[in-house]
Amino acid sequence: MHTDARTIETGSILEGDICIVGAGAAGISLALEWNNSGKNVILLEGGGFQVETEIQDLYRGKTTGQRYFPLQSARLHYFGGTTGHWSGFCSDFDPIDFEKRDWVPHSGWPIKRADLDPFYERAQKILDLGPYQYNLDYWKKKDDSLVPLPFDNQVIWNKVWQFSPPTRFGSKYKEEILKSKNIHLYSYANVTEIIADEQVQSVKELKVKNLAGKEHIVRAKTVVLACSSIQNARLLLASNSIAKNGLGNDHDQVGRYFMEHLEVDSGDLFLTQEAALKLYMWEFFTVKMRAELAVTKQMQEESKILNGTASLSPFTGSRPPAFIDTFSDDAKASVEKWENREKNFSEKGPSESDLKKYARFNLFTRMEQAPNPNSRVTLDQERDELGMPRVILNWELTPLEKRSIRKLYDLIGQQLGISGLGRVRVIDWLQDDTNDEWPSILGGGWHHMGTTRMHEDPGQGVVDANCKVHGISNLYIAGASCFSTGGAANPTLTLVALTLRLSDYLKSKV
Ligand SMILES: Cc1cc2nc3c(=O)[nH]c(=O)nc-3n(C[C@H](O)[C@H](O)[C@H](O)COP(=O)(O)OP(=O)(O)OC[C@H]3O[C@@H](n4cnc5c(N)ncnc54)[C@H](O)[C@@H]3O)c2cc1C
Repeated sequence: MHTDARTIETGSILEGDICIVGAGAAGISLALEWNNSGKNVILLEGGGFQVETEIQDLYRGKTTGQRYFPLQSARLHYFGGTTGHWSGFCSDFDPIDFEKRDWVPHSGWPIKRADLDPFYERAQKILDLGPYQYNLDYWKKKDDSLVPLPFDNQVIWNKVWQFSPPTRFGSKYKEEILKSKNIHLYSYANVTEIIADEQVQSVKELKVKNLAGKEHIVRAKTVVLACSSIQNARLLLASNSIAKNGLGNDHDQVGRYFMEHLEVDSGDLFLTQEAALKLYMWEFFTVKMRAELAVTKQMQEESKILNGTASLSPFTGSRPPAFIDTFSDDAKASVEKWENREKNFSEKGPSESDLKKYARFNLFTRMEQAPNPNSRVTLDQERDELGMPRVILNWELTPLEKRSIRKLYDLIGQQLGISGLGRVRVIDWLQDDTNDEWPSILGGGWHHMGTTRMHEDPGQGVVDANCKVHGISNLYIAGASCFSTGGAANPTLTLVALTLRLSDYLKSKV
């Protein structure tokens, strides 16, 4: 079922068993789990079925600290959410990502990697990925030309990635949602406030608005926010008519620990003799996988560094463009530019035989960001067209991230030297180990994580191990805002897995 919330009488009261706010990767994955469940599911989506400049503008905000993408372009505000232009690169988090590491302040999840295993398997299908296999041996059996570099696997290992087509949730799952008898999608239904009861112990109702001037009320026994990290935090902070500091924010935790992956051009790998590198290239595969060079758990512990990986691509004459420069204030133009770039990118890869001609490869980093309470989302004085306070994102890094990137390449360089295959040269900005500044090319991967982090102690996090907001009996959060740490792998596979885990938990309760 679908209703355009601009077409119903203002002041309508919509009632259901469960209300999901946001129809992106998390919201749609969750809603589909409840299809034919006999429960009345309300799915509220702020946008329509395509990118609209006025709706994107609701996301506009300020950025301070480390330079970041314009916020109105870094997320898509319509049915399907940011999967409308995600790239589909997926890998699972490592067990160490969930552990408390004494050299990484605020690390440690209240759940273990093994708790997500069954949900990862289900998430693979939703994202149209291959078999739930991230072990290189499995892939080598299918193709014996996938030969890893001869590195000491106690130091550097080969982390397997898979590629979603990429699944666009807004088109792939539209029909199923629209045809569902028990899921009722309301488009142009922006939640602008969550109203709690007087005791601030449960959600009483949601205030919904749109640019057509209509206002509605939604009531449901259970409410799940799935608006992505920045908007989840914004909505909780702006829900301050009853709880003055915002909902779930008694301990000033909402909005803190915003995390990204540091994605940046970092150096070159020079081969002095022929080596098989097909395993590390992504353009060639029909099986849709490749490996990245990653630091082992043992070396992370020994060197006291964060988790990170390096990918290889043939050096074709110029350095890769910096992600941070790819998006402008114009959200629609940014989407088009990204789509064109992706098309050209996949056409650019050399053939398998051409690969042998290359002796120089670009090294590109994907590094975990240490959880940092000062890297955060707060509310601005300025309001959007619906009257909601806009956000200020202060993206803040620490010296640990830079030291970790440098160490990643020390280790890869050492291993390459020992193997006699070649040398690594890091880019200028990484060479001086006394310099903690970041270069202008540093960007993120548009991976918004943290802001409502999972922690058993309400003084140190916003949701518990079941993604329930501390202190509010019927309010849950789905998505990467619940991540306690961000690992080095892209977030969507893990956030969908976590959402499926939440769904199973809710089914045992609702
Ligand atoms: C260019 C780009 C490339 C990317 N590539 C990758 C990749 O290769 N691999 C990877 O893992 N990830 C990638 N990502 C990140 C990926 O897109 C996100 O991790 C994923 O979309 C997050 O899902 P989500 O449901 O939490 O948020 P979203 O997909 O952003 O969905 C949130 C939904 O909530 C709605 N909403 C927001 N606020 C409200 C409100 N107040 N009321 C009602 N509805 C609301 C929005 O309209 C939207 O539909 C990429 C992102 C970008 C921008």
